[in-house]
Amino acid sequence: MTTKTTTIGILGAGQLARMLALAGLPLGLRFVVLDPAPDACAAVVSTHVVGGYGDRETLSRFAGMVDVVTYEFENVPAESVNYLAERVPVYPSPRALAASRDRFAEKSLFVELGIPTPKFIAVDGLDGLRAAVSEIGLPAVLKTRTLGYDGKGQSVIKRDDDIEGAWARAGGAPCVLETFVPFTREISVVVVRGRGGETRFYPIGENTHSGGILRHTVCCLDDPAQSAAEGLASRLLEHFGYVGVLALELFEVDGKLMANEMAPRVHNTGHWSIEGAQTSQFENHVRAVAGLPLGGTGAVCRSAMVNFIGTIPDAAEVLSVDGAHLHDYGKAPRPGRKLGHATVCGDSEGAVEAGLNELLRLTRNC
Ligand code: AMP
Repeated sequence: MTTKTTTIGILGAGQLARMLALAGLPLGLRFVVLDPAPDACAAVVSTHVVGGYGDRETLSRFAGMVDVVTYEFENVPAESVNYLAERVPVYPSPRALAASRDRFAEKSLFVELGIPTPKFIAVDGLDGLRAAVSEIGLPAVLKTRTLGYDGKGQSVIKRDDDIEGAWARAGGAPCVLETFVPFTREISVVVVRGRGGETRFYPIGENTHSGGILRHTVCCLDDPAQSAAEGLASRLLEHFGYVGVLALELFEVDGKLMANEMAPRVHNTGHWSIEGAQTSQFENHVRAVAGLPLGGTGAVCRSAMVNFIGTIPDAAEVLSVDGAHLHDYGKAPRPGRKLGHATVCGDSEGAVEAGLNELLRLTRNC
């Protein structure tokens, strides 16, 4: 019996799209990626439509080539997603995308759903920022409402003297001011929900950021925060009637969780799952959007993931680390750019910690 091949369209053709395609090709799925960059790194494993996300002719051509659409980043114009959604199914729903694109909308949704989040206020001008600082207190973090990722568009305000500089750095864009959280650790929960509502959670990740960019994640087995994190993410899944992978980033303070942000897509803090879980986040996302049964999300080993940012060590050096697996995204080096990652797997916490430290040393040397 022959069945029709499902073609998944992905908005964006960076490393997340590339890993989605790499996971889906063995299942018989095919991929068309839309991205204005001619050298986008997912192009080697998919059909690449080169064009702007806001260009109707491009969107119409793209929609005609695919059975279902998903996306690898939040900043796709809302009108474009809505235009596509009138022609083909879009998963996760455009409503989830809209909520995550604007930090104020996102945090307001957290409040509506009873998900604890740092105190926040929308800010539209310097006077408003001063008033918000009086209300929230210092230290606080100013973040642009849209287009912020990897710490871009963010400033920590420690003293009144920092206010003007922070506002200037935001470049006049609408912002939110939020309490600076003295967290004990940052964690994230990654979850997948299928078209029929079947839901599977991955073990949480403990994340280390520097300069606002994720540096490494350790997969935590049997963590005491697992069930509370799952409970918070479940509220979002139910609210959106969600389909696909969702990540919720959380601060842990005095044993309690507060949501920082959600990502309606596969997430950097879930990359360990390629080697560390029964089914990777990438495979489960494409299974979900294609309407296929989901795979297990349990860990098959202990694991940790290290990002290669700005530069990438030699493959031979990475692969000489016991239990390490390399993912080179094939991107041109540029300061602050995520060029690849490595996951180290082991059968004990000690073995993974040793491998993680070796990988971190490589990131410092290269
Ligand atoms: P974001 O772009 O909101 O994910 O922020 C990037 C990183 O900046 C986070 O992972 C934290 O390490 C840090 N950060 C963001 N917001 C806060 C906050 N309100 N308090 C303390 N650290 C924060």
